[in-house]
Amino acid sequence: MSAIDHLPPLREVIARHGLMAKKSLGQNFLLDLNLTSRIARASGPLEGATVVEIGPGPGGLTRALLAGGAARVIAVERDPRCLPALEEIAAHYPGRLTVIEGDALEVDLVPHIGGAPARIVANLPYNVGTQLLTGWLTLDRWPPWYRSLTLMFQKEVAQRIVAAPDTDAYGRLGVLAGWRTEARIAFDVGPSAFVPPPKVTSSVVHLVPRADPIPCRVGALERVTAAAFGQRRKMIRQSLKGLGRDPMALIETAGLDPTARAETLTIAEFCTLARLLDA
Ligand code: SAM
Repeated sequence: MSAIDHLPPLREVIARHGLMAKKSLGQNFLLDLNLTSRIARASGPLEGATVVEIGPGPGGLTRALLAGGAARVIAVERDPRCLPALEEIAAHYPGRLTVIEGDALEVDLVPHIGGAPARIVANLPYNVGTQLLTGWLTLDRWPPWYRSLTLMFQKEVAQRIVAAPDTDAYGRLGVLAGWRTEARIAFDVGPSAFVPPPKVTSSVVHLVPRADPIPCRVGALERVTAAAFGQRRKMIRQSLKGLGRDPMALIETAGLDPTARAETLTIAEFCTLARLLDA
């Protein structure tokens, strides 16, 4: 029995259900329930909350979320081998855990959460993590249906998410995340915390949607940052040529220095360019 609930230790669960980790599914499991509880706490107050978990696997983080007081956990798992282990957790917490078998990139979560603002929490499969985050950051409706994102990434990706201008890590992902959310790294997690251990250090990132991001259309912002960071070492008078508009006219109207490079532009300046592109 574990310290946080009366369920068996995760090692035993994994052995009993034959859950050998599959690399193709990005499976690096967390077996330390103190660590999964720390991730659950980093997501904010859980008492009464609705939580969406992506990739519960054998259920270590799921158990921490439920033991931490989440009223409901809706978990999306692609690997059918994990479902019997998750059913045991569901039986232990009647009516509180719903498991959806499927690909998180395709499942529409909104009908499942029933209107309550949800917290998204996940030890993400690395192969789809950035794609999932980008999808959550580019929703048409803003503020979005979730109230926070607490996600594990490779440390290098986490640094790109929270990056400020004038740093090597600053790029398209940092502009998008910083525009629509307040993002910070909560803590790092070393490779030895996972089974099997990945080659790199990981970080838990916590993102809270901004109520009023600087006005601009997400599609236009993505076009501008793709052009600018696509040639990040070039001056913007050169890199913005691909936008199909006179780059000097855009740059002058925005009040920018034509010799500046993408990595020195602030998020507000990218938003100005995006608005001009739409004008
Ligand atoms: N949450 C568990 C933990 O912390 O031990 C497992 C984390 S493991 C890094 C990633 C999990 O995501 C695996 O269980 C894997 O099967 C699942 N997964 C991979 N790709 C997925 C996808 N596209 N949609 C949903 N789940 C996926």
